[in-house]
Amino acid sequence: MRSHYCGEVNESLVDQEVTLCGWVHRRRDHGGVIFLDLRDRDGVAQVVYDPDTNEVFQLAEQIRDEFVVKVTGRVRLRPDGKANADMSTGKVEVLGKQLEILSTAKTPPFQLDEFVQVGEDVRLRYRYMDLRRPEMLNKLRFRSKVTSYIRNFLDSNGFMDVETPILTRATPEGARDYLVPSRTHEGSFFALPQSPQLFKQLLMMSGVDRYYQIAKCFRDEDLRADRQPEFTQVDIETSFLSEDEIMSITERLVRDMFRDLLEVELPEFPRMPFAEAMNRYGSDKPDLRIPLELVDVGDLLTNVSFNVFSGPANDPKSRVAALRLPKGGELLSRKQIDDYTKFVGIYGAKGLPYIKVNEKAKGLEGLQSPIVKHIADVIDQLLERVGAEDGDIIFFGTDKTRVVNEALGALRVKLGHDLNLLEKQWAPLWVVDFPMFEEDGEGGWTAIHHPFTAPSCAVEMLESDPENALSRAYDMVLNGTELGGGSVRIHDSDMQETVLRILGIGQEEAQEKFGFLLDALKFGCPPHGGLAFGLDRLVMLMTGAQSIREVIAFPKTQSAMCMMTQAPGKVDPRQLRELNIRLRKTEQPE
Ligand code: ASP
Repeated sequence: MRSHYCGEVNESLVDQEVTLCGWVHRRRDHGGVIFLDLRDRDGVAQVVYDPDTNEVFQLAEQIRDEFVVKVTGRVRLRPDGKANADMSTGKVEVLGKQLEILSTAKTPPFQLDEFVQVGEDVRLRYRYMDLRRPEMLNKLRFRSKVTSYIRNFLDSNGFMDVETPILTRATPEGARDYLVPSRTHEGSFFALPQSPQLFKQLLMMSGVDRYYQIAKCFRDEDLRADRQPEFTQVDIETSFLSEDEIMSITERLVRDMFRDLLEVELPEFPRMPFAEAMNRYGSDKPDLRIPLELVDVGDLLTNVSFNVFSGPANDPKSRVAALRLPKGGELLSRKQIDDYTKFVGIYGAKGLPYIKVNEKAKGLEGLQSPIVKHIADVIDQLLERVGAEDGDIIFFGTDKTRVVNEALGALRVKLGHDLNLLEKQWAPLWVVDFPMFEEDGEGGWTAIHHPFTAPSCAVEMLESDPENALSRAYDMVLNGTELGGGSVRIHDSDMQETVLRILGIGQEEAQEKFGFLLDALKFGCPPHGGLAFGLDRLVMLMTGAQSIREVIAFPKTQSAMCMMTQAPGKVDPRQLRELNIRLRKTEQPE
């Protein structure tokens, strides 16, 4: 129908006739002349109708915003002084000769101009309108560039794109499964994959050697933070490569892509052991753009009479750490300190002790703090340990290690953003040497990655000291966001059975759930390993979007529903009967 996209209309077409199709972005009447800003996915072109073309002019008068029209006219330069330097088409306009209304439109639920702030619920309900906004379409377009870049890179490095099932058995990645009842097998359920993990490992056993898939994954999680119940992974698996080789090839993918799509030269990714990341940053995905660090001070405080410090200082499962904010004593008001105290409360911290260093040379006199009198004996050592200078504020975390790390880790990031402390735009790294397991709070263990991750020790050591066993896992982190994670896998059935046993999965259960994997491991399994990138997060970071919902065409809300289709929805009783499902009556409050 069209001869050009709106965005293509420029001086090179002057005096030519063009036919454009698109949405009327705006209609303006100017003293007997009608201007239509016509929009399609490539841009906006200005079309002018003057009353000389009477019939067409009358039609143009009926046009409203978001009508879909076909326009034919001649391109001409805009009159002197009327050019718009902000538009690629701003030097020209189309003098309309013909006009066809292809579709009318009701008044839009919101203005599409980018500067109009609209509630997200409304945007999601009318997502097809929201996506018409050029900034949203541009994100989709960029996402498409990213996926095609990744495909090209992996294709040219010998990776094979293989699809794996969506209707399958549980693949444990630490979330709840989405279940799908089977009609043909009464009482049985499929699970939607939390990841293609086991299938990609089986593909290595099949000899595929290098696999990738841009795969939908499903996790029924409490949607804290910025998660989606279904999301996309760039899923990768390789045979006969060491972790160094896997990290190197996937790092190259990301660095090449940043260079080619964003013109950003990322530095070589440093590697940091998990323990160091937790110690210095309180996080296994440290944001290295922020120059603040946690410092352990527990050893100085074991003998002070102040139990808030000495208690955790003497407990091996606790930690006392300090976070020094240079010049923070001068920068932060009392109110801000109170707000930060509330903030760390979210992470379970019972308070946020602090010392303001007004004038170090004056000793205790020069310090301002509700706690300093309790720790007077060790204060000099403490100030020296954290490198305190006049004007600083030192915050403390003193609690179970997990609470301290989460609270001070989050505070570190918040201070970094609130006070504009970011030292660079991009800070990538690999976090390595993760522990295999963490306590599940009920006396057992859970896998830090997934149960198929290989330990870096032998079976005997793993069994005798699971707490201290490290894994051959690695996470790629960018600006405090985990971009991807993976590991070398277990390729030996004894080791796999041992790990499942440590996780409290008995032989019978193991056979029932993962029998196919345990069998396959006995039929000749290559050493293998891989990684998966979170595509949504990657695109979010690359486009500077604030949320993954901004880079997903049809995302779900924080409560895991689709505002537009109203999914999940009720189903017909007949469908339930076919599935042998009877719903329990929800109790009505009296
Ligand atoms: N399956 C893992 C995940 O979804 C990634 C991997 O180990 O390759 O996080």
